[in-house]
Amino acid sequence: MRYLDFIRKQKEYVPPADIPQKGHIDQLFETRTLTRDALRYLLESEDERTAEYLFFKARIRQKETFENKIYLRGLIEFSNFCRCDCKYCGIRKSNGNVQRYHMSREDILRCAELGHMHGFRTFVLQGGEDLSYSDDDICRIVSSIREKFPDSAVTLSIGERTKESYQKYFDAGAERYLLRHEAAAPELYRKLHPQAQTLENRIRCLYDLKSIGYQVGAGMMLHAPGQTLDDLITDFFFLQKLQPDMIGCGPFIPHKDTEYRNEEAGSVELTLRVLGILRLMFPEVLLPSTTALGTIDPMGREKGILAGANVVMPNLSPRDVRKKYMLYDNKICTEDDAVQCAGCMNQRMKAIGYRVVEDRGDAPRKVAQMCRKKSEKRIDGA
Ligand code: SAH
Repeated sequence: MRYLDFIRKQKEYVPPADIPQKGHIDQLFETRTLTRDALRYLLESEDERTAEYLFFKARIRQKETFENKIYLRGLIEFSNFCRCDCKYCGIRKSNGNVQRYHMSREDILRCAELGHMHGFRTFVLQGGEDLSYSDDDICRIVSSIREKFPDSAVTLSIGERTKESYQKYFDAGAERYLLRHEAAAPELYRKLHPQAQTLENRIRCLYDLKSIGYQVGAGMMLHAPGQTLDDLITDFFFLQKLQPDMIGCGPFIPHKDTEYRNEEAGSVELTLRVLGILRLMFPEVLLPSTTALGTIDPMGREKGILAGANVVMPNLSPRDVRKKYMLYDNKICTEDDAVQCAGCMNQRMKAIGYRVVEDRGDAPRKVAQMCRKKSEKRIDGA
């Protein structure tokens, strides 16, 4: 379907009388859950009427909590050194073709500064697991950003660490952590990772992060090599147990230097259906429309928002490093700079009736907690 047709269709949408799977979607809307079988039917369905009704209901939930606001996260890809060897990832340790780089604290601060000028109020520091930065280095980077931009939040996305390290980063001012669980089905996780990287440790990290008080992001790749719909449903149930504040979920895309170079990428249709289901399961969750979705479809990010997502993550990395942070082939925006990315995203969101806001975009649960704390303080002080 052409882009404008797609948007017009969403805007003028009135549910038709005969929608296959309507009962399942209504049930998910009301109860936030479904049986494994019902979820499988929904994921399998290729009927456009089903998908459109799912997105329609997802937008109702999205607007109840977030109106037409879209939160921006400025992604700073500060290092592509990695001790891990995830089989799907372009910057995995054993890929000898990567030109490795890491950025200094000053360079990272410069990215944040540029982002702040353009309305970003969250900075996501993402990188491979690069142990050349000590915990103290990470803490210094985090606290410098927080000191310089007290109205902004810092999200870390630097992989698996000990609880003690996570606590140090938190104390230095990092309030959010993004660590996709990648695959909750043990067999699939084992297939996608070397033996030394275990699902148990990944999950341990997520629960440690939660117990420290971070706003936690989990998530999975869609259509990862060998992933079945049942595996994906296992991810849904895992997320229901974990109850994260954010869910990062994008299509798998092959990278030429990995053993999965000839595997098929995840589809737009599956990704959108998963986003719609996630919005109905987790009405208040922060749900990015990912760069990977924008890579497999030029209008992918807009479609993701119209299927229930409410976050976009434009790239703030300096142009000269972008091509070196290639998690997968053909990643978009590697020729642009931060200013172009921010402007482009504002335009794109406006075109579909949404509005990018200058806001930290905290998880609603955390906002409520922060308000409670403030009013308790007032009462104590009175
Ligand atoms: N080292 C950090 C950041 C990893 S990169 C960590 O471990 O969390 C961020 C995300 O990119 C990963 O969590 C993974 O889900 C995704 N990714 C990696 N390779 C990919 C590929 N080939 N296709 C799509 N997404 C990929």
